[in-house]
Amino acid sequence: MDSGMIGKVAKAHRYAEERDRFQVTGLQVTVRGENSDHTVALDGEHWHCTCDFFEHHGACAHTMALEIMFEGMLPQSVTFAMAS
Ligand SMILES: [Zn+2]
Repeated sequence: MDSGMIGKVAKAHRYAEERDRFQVTGLQVTVRGENSDHTVALDGEHWHCTCDFFEHHGACAHTMALEIMFEGMLPQSVTFAMAS
């Protein structure tokens, strides 16, 4: 690995610790639920999930699990799990 890349790897590790540098504006994830798989997506400031619970509540264990995993990097308006 050249020295330029070594420097970038070190910087990447530092950035990865500084979560407030990052704002997740979109993602799509397949979550293996206990009964079946669900597709969770974040589109700007709106979650979507293919499970029934989400359809009726606008949040579910799948979206909230991702909120926890991406803590500090999501728009405040989409975070239910972090609100309490
Ligand atoms: Zn769900």
